[in-house]
Amino acid sequence: MVTIRQKLVSATQAAKITNGKNNAKKYIVVHETDNTSVGADADAHARLQGNGNSRDASWHWQVDDKEAVQSFAHYWQCWGAGTYIGNNQGIQIEICVNSDGNYKKAVENAASLIAKIIKDENISIDNIVQHHYFSGKNCPRNMRAGKISWSNFLKMIADADTQQPENPSTEPLKYRLLTGTYSTRKAAQSVLEVMQHRFGWVAYIEQDGTKYRVKTGTFTGLNAAQHAENKIKTAKLAQVTYIVPA
Ligand SMILES: [Zn+2]
Repeated sequence: MVTIRQKLVSATQAAKITNGKNNAKKYIVVHETDNTSVGADADAHARLQGNGNSRDASWHWQVDDKEAVQSFAHYWQCWGAGTYIGNNQGIQIEICVNSDGNYKKAVENAASLIAKIIKDENISIDNIVQHHYFSGKNCPRNMRAGKISWSNFLKMIADADTQQPENPSTEPLKYRLLTGTYSTRKAAQSVLEVMQHRFGWVAYIEQDGTKYRVKTGTFTGLNAAQHAENKIKTAKLAQVTYIVPA
């Protein structure tokens, strides 16, 4: 089953961007983020919510091709569905569509997550709906366009394995690599290109003051992160690297 992580928005922040804590938890409302930017993965969306999303919007979960991240406990009535009932009775799930992610895998992960939630919260599979069902919005867009059909998605959920790992606490943690700074974006860009094209990694550039760093996607387990760090050193891509928890 999909790797699950919590990065909960503070209660003070949650109170500002929800209708409160009395979610009837009758529906699962499926969305896509519509954000195709590189790096716009579940972690980025969870951070956006945690930092105080500037839009009047909120959602419980974001899922990408690597993991599902929870921002709100299910009792919060998030502003996701665009209608009173949709918001007050729905658990909102956003599927990431970042261009550096694997859409099909993200959809599979969403199916795995939803299978777990409907079991935990005792929600009928008939009450899994699209955002479109409540507000008429063209969401989830790719699924509505048939990239993966809705009926296929429901079948994935029905077939998903909801078996939790025996001992989730022993699961290896996730790490990212962060390089030291480069003084120009161009220098960072050439490092980024090696990581993306030669190593086949997810990576992006982060601005740090007037300088730039390159940050990778996540590696599972410290061993994998150290192996990746050695690759960077061998290729002389950075003088300094940091392994940071993801
Ligand atoms: Zn939506």
